[in-house]
Amino acid sequence: MKGKFKYVFFDADDTLWENEQFFRDAEESFIRLLSPYTGPEGVQQMLWDRQEENIPLFGYGSKTYMIGMSDAAMELCGGHLPAEIYHGIKKIITDLTYHEFRLLDGVEETLEALYGHYTLVVATKGDVTEQMCKFRQSGLGKYFHHVEVMENKCEQNYLELAAKHDIAPQQLLMVGNSVKSDIAPVINVGGTAINTPHNVVWVHEMMDMPESDRITVVKSIKDIVNFLL
Ligand SMILES: [Mg+2]
Repeated sequence: MKGKFKYVFFDADDTLWENEQFFRDAEESFIRLLSPYTGPEGVQQMLWDRQEENIPLFGYGSKTYMIGMSDAAMELCGGHLPAEIYHGIKKIITDLTYHEFRLLDGVEETLEALYGHYTLVVATKGDVTEQMCKFRQSGLGKYFHHVEVMENKCEQNYLELAAKHDIAPQQLLMVGNSVKSDIAPVINVGGTAINTPHNVVWVHEMMDMPESDRITVVKSIKDIVNFLL
């Protein structure tokens, strides 16, 4: 990979900073809140189903999660949403939105090593306000040339990302934790990807790793330096 790329694109959630664990904690709080109405598995499945319906309509992020939780709760409560359940959901989402910020291990030293050798770009998806707020909290602004909050991470979105930076799709080098969002679509448009697996994976993002010699899997984000410098 050395000398082959000018840009390195980084996913953000669960690649640069902790994210999914906080959503998982929120999900557990929601299950506890609604478990008097049905078993935990039923609450969880209902939440996943309603969330999948709402993502195409409202995008990613905690506000969409609030709608998904409200829809699931309404259905579990027989069509009437009690005020205490609504306020319980709002508290869960507020806690999720204002959780402590946690940078992942090795991120800062990796960016510091790469800075000056590559143009570093954040390529995240989600709610613009939420993602930019997390980016500011991260203190990583000094390393990045640019932040892209993408509408989604499908092939078309990566083609648009390449075009925006005036590079061919084959010159895309993406680093990220999600096989579905950061690896597979980049490979499908001819790019190269480095997977930095995270121990917590959102059910929406689960996918088997495709076969390609343009994919590298590393244990820690720190290891990417060995491939790039
Ligand atoms: Mg991610």
